[in-house]
Amino acid sequence: MRILFHLPGDDADAWLHDLKAACPEAEIRQWTPGDARPADYLLAWKPPAELLRGRTGLKAVFNLGAGVDALLDLLRREPQLLPASVPIIKLDDAGMGRQMVEYVMQAVLRHFRRVDDYEALQRQGIWRPLPPRRHAEHPIGVMGSGALGAQVIAALGAAGFPVRAWSRHPKPLDASAADAARFAGKDALPAFLNGLQQLVNMLPLTPETGNILDRACFDRLAAGAHLVNVARGAHLVEADLLDALASGRIAAATLDVFRQEPLPADHPFWRHPRIRITPHVSALTERGASIVQIVSRLHAMERGETAAGAIDRERGY
Ligand code: NDP
Repeated sequence: MRILFHLPGDDADAWLHDLKAACPEAEIRQWTPGDARPADYLLAWKPPAELLRGRTGLKAVFNLGAGVDALLDLLRREPQLLPASVPIIKLDDAGMGRQMVEYVMQAVLRHFRRVDDYEALQRQGIWRPLPPRRHAEHPIGVMGSGALGAQVIAALGAAGFPVRAWSRHPKPLDASAADAARFAGKDALPAFLNGLQQLVNMLPLTPETGNILDRACFDRLAAGAHLVNVARGAHLVEADLLDALASGRIAAATLDVFRQEPLPADHPFWRHPRIRITPHVSALTERGASIVQIVSRLHAMERGETAAGAIDRERGY
């Protein structure tokens, strides 16, 4: 089997080395501009149009991440780059779920335990116990209950919070997240949002979910709510967040993803006292776990089986 590989950044050599070790029977090469030689599989993160143009004979594209929005955005503009019959396979968890749990839990607990408030008091040298927040009065909502969201929902429930989960279709969650209240579809969104103390966004970016974190959404949350966005920057209407912070509707936001990355130096988010920023690091692709998953799926396909993880190009995830 012939594998074409494309990963921008410093990690490419280590990936190639480990891929070759895990799949010694394959001929694996890194794509360079002008390479039009045939390949059976493409393993890529954000492939340029040039890589796909005129390329025929691909059996599948493996997306080296959980979010397929960048690739689908390209294919929406130039659908002829990849026939609809070629499956696009995303990473499912592959070590990212654990990282998302860590990231979301630290953000949620920081707000719940009023760490920001105590830091403000410390800066003024004030010793003042504040009224504690109580789990029972602190519902937390998670948008998206897929490979990553379901693990966060389970962790929040295990920590004692009343959890609400919103997805596209009604579906049962694993036993570990079974206590979460389930909401599905657009019509259920208002009820899902009403009175939430914290809102965690773990949705894929699709034509349906872009700009979903807007004024109408914030207006339904409890006054003084906390927003955590670990999905995509284009989910958030930035001006509406700044307004909601100014009015007190939202007390604080923890943002890992942004419309423009890196976040421009003059962006107002950098200096906002109640916005916490990290540079798109909440869950990094883990090379070892990802390669194990991809190689097992490659072998399944070579045996003529359907590989797990294929996304639906129409619905966008
Ligand atoms: P999945 O595809 O496994 O799950 C997506 C979830 O979102 C599903 O529960 C799905 O509902 C739900 N969903 C999709 N569209 C809608 C909609 N219109 N309305 C309501 N619910 C919807 O994705 P993952 O859990 O693997 O990843 C989620 C996202 O996390 C990625 O797409 C990516 O953007 C982001 N991410 C961010 C990272 C970072 O470092 N910041 C790292 C990794 C991922 P249903 O179950 O009904 O299909």
